[in-house]
Amino acid sequence: MFIQELVDFLNTSIPPGIQEEYDNSGLLVGDTSQELKGVLISVDATEEVIDEAIRKQANFVLTHHPVIFSGLKTLTGKNYVERTVMKAIRNNLAIYAAHTSLDNLKEGINFKMAHKLGLKSPTILRPAKNQLLKLVFFVPHDHADAVRKAVFDAGAGIVGDYEGCSYNLDGKGSFRPGEGTDPYVGQIGEMHFEEETRVETWLPRYKTSQVLKAMNQAHPYEEVAYDLYPLVNSDNETGAGVIGELEEEMPEKEFLEQLKQTFGVPVIRHTKLLYSFVQRIAFCGGSGSFLLEDAMAQGADVFVSADFKYHRFFDAEEKILIADIGHYESEAVAKDFFYELVREKFPNFAVHLSEINTNPINYF
Ligand SMILES: [Zn+2]
Repeated sequence: MFIQELVDFLNTSIPPGIQEEYDNSGLLVGDTSQELKGVLISVDATEEVIDEAIRKQANFVLTHHPVIFSGLKTLTGKNYVERTVMKAIRNNLAIYAAHTSLDNLKEGINFKMAHKLGLKSPTILRPAKNQLLKLVFFVPHDHADAVRKAVFDAGAGIVGDYEGCSYNLDGKGSFRPGEGTDPYVGQIGEMHFEEETRVETWLPRYKTSQVLKAMNQAHPYEEVAYDLYPLVNSDNETGAGVIGELEEEMPEKEFLEQLKQTFGVPVIRHTKLLYSFVQRIAFCGGSGSFLLEDAMAQGADVFVSADFKYHRFFDAEEKILIADIGHYESEAVAKDFFYELVREKFPNFAVHLSEINTNPINYF
């Protein structure tokens, strides 16, 4: 098995197309034509982690945080990023990161945490905007089924738990084939009217090329008439953070105690205790303070995240309890997510969880 196969699987399961604009998720280092020998999973890629991969004879390091984040202009080993990348290249290792692509994935890292906290029917806290497109295409009646099926198979037409969603309208298309064409119906130089179906469906933006490719391959015409429209609808299938409710309300101190246990946190930074009981919980792994207003607007009793600055705690306005549990601690679950994902798909393959705690923050 080659590295390419694992990269393709990861790109399909955690599409880099749903990452935030500032991010750098995906394959960062590596020759995909190399044979895959083993996978090491870590939150971060550091020199120590690369050493561990070499020791464990794994040549693929799968991490949450992208070690190359804002671009590399030199490779001289002057900082840990350059040294990590250089060590990986020297030893023929690949590095792949799924960062905000994993954050924005429904049933990704945040949903995994929601399940761990026992939140029922969790939903995305801030659904992604400008992610959906409407696709309209025109196809002869007798080919409508085949083309519809092709675009559905490629990932179009999914609305919540429904698939194969489309709207279909019969009508007439017209065209005059020019010199040098090879029309499926009609004669060169003559106006032709064909009974066609107008099919409307929608798709997430990141699936555009695969859906259009499938449509073109299944369509009988040389030139396929289609329209793509950007939609302002929110995409409930991707987005940041998660919100849900505990099975039963519980005393807030008891909930904070449970957070400490679940995340292995020695200390929680929090705003003033407010309620005797809490039930509605918002969560975002990593630096999630940008979602505070979303959590408040959706009536969360507690917002669990990390990296809150001093002034951000004031913004809670005694309306919500902020619980800052630490960046690494809130995202360590990414390792379990990756492990289960890769293990399930490639059960006979060597997949290791890194034994190194890469958290740069210590508590005294
Ligand atoms: Zn993070």
